[in-house]
Amino acid sequence: MNIVNKIKNTVFINSCTRCTPHYFTLVMQWSYWLIILYFFCYIIFTVYFGLSIYGAIITPWILAAIVSLHFIRRFPGRRHLFLYTILLLSWLIFFVINFGWDCGGQHFIMPLMVIVFFSIYDTIPRKLLFLGILFALRLYLFFYCMNHTPIIQLSAVSNAVLQIMNTSFIFIHMAVVCLIFSTNIQNAEKQLMIYNQELQKQACTDPLTTLHNRRYMMDLLENQTSVKPHDRFCVALGDIDLFKKINDTRGHNFGDLVLRELAELFKDSVKDKGYVCRWGGEEFFFFLPDMNLDQASEFINSLNIAVSKLPIHDNGDPIHVTMTFGVEEYDYQSSLTNLIKSADDKLYYGKKHGRNRVIF
Ligand code: GH3
Ligand code: MG
Ligand code: MG
Repeated sequence: MNIVNKIKNTVFINSCTRCTPHYFTLVMQWSYWLIILYFFCYIIFTVYFGLSIYGAIITPWILAAIVSLHFIRRFPGRRHLFLYTILLLSWLIFFVINFGWDCGGQHFIMPLMVIVFFSIYDTIPRKLLFLGILFALRLYLFFYCMNHTPIIQLSAVSNAVLQIMNTSFIFIHMAVVCLIFSTNIQNAEKQLMIYNQELQKQACTDPLTTLHNRRYMMDLLENQTSVKPHDRFCVALGDIDLFKKINDTRGHNFGDLVLRELAELFKDSVKDKGYVCRWGGEEFFFFLPDMNLDQASEFINSLNIAVSKLPIHDNGDPIHVTMTFGVEEYDYQSSLTNLIKSADDKLYYGKKHGRNRVIF
């Protein structure tokens, strides 16, 4: 899979509103598991404190949660948030009316808010609408409780136990939701950074030879002249001689092989001396920092000899190619365009005067 498709899969598939991202389904699954666990704790609480009738009342909520959990695995979708909201809010209303404001049931709203606000592909107006509804409900329940006494009067101990149960559920629920969402964001960010680095690498690399490309070389040269304007350096432009003929007689694939073999030779030779890139077609460009014209010419000359000696294996006997080079030294004032043109003029001169030579 190429890099563009990888990025599409990371970013755009997740953002597709019709398909539900995996992490969202995970959040909903965990939410249902936690609420089921909470309901069972609640049943134990009611049995223990002699309120079994209120324990039995919870049956429809437990069934709804179990059925939803079953379906969320088979048919993941955003509608589960809606169902979960109804489940939690109806329970909250029931709870606050029966047990009063002091048992902390109203805080069940908090995990819902976290889920909706972290659910990054919901629109902002929908999030705000949801927030408004939760806010209004909370206010309504508050004023309701001010004017009505709870239906069930709890002892101080049972009240404390219920308070601890609710607080634990809400904290664990929020922690799990935040953990899943934040882990997902971190992973997505990490992936994008890796893809970004890979993209940058690809943008600067020639795919055939794996050498750097012209864009990378221009960046290097611009950096050199702006950061170290008083440092000497040389450039050289090399072009394979009569390459068209090689392509015509031995085929384009063999032509490609020649380019790759030469690229390997250049990589090895230039390693500790400077930089090489594929300038375009069958042309290679060399950037040789800290070299004057004599040193650069000597180096390019030895490289030219190595090129002519390099055996490139076609099906039969090895064949040899030659190259022509133009070498130029930076004069501390010319523009890069002029510097490169000057190397190119020398290369052209070399071509005109017999090829297989280095002009400096
Ligand atoms: P000269 O000595 O004057 O440079 O002659 P030449 O034949 O090398 O020059 P010319 O510019 O006429 O031909 C360059 C050829 O390089 C033409 C083109 O088909 C070939 N070429 C450019 N890029 C590639 C490539 O990626 N693979 C292959 N196989 N050939 C390429
Ligand atoms: Mg050419
Ligand atoms: Mg050529």
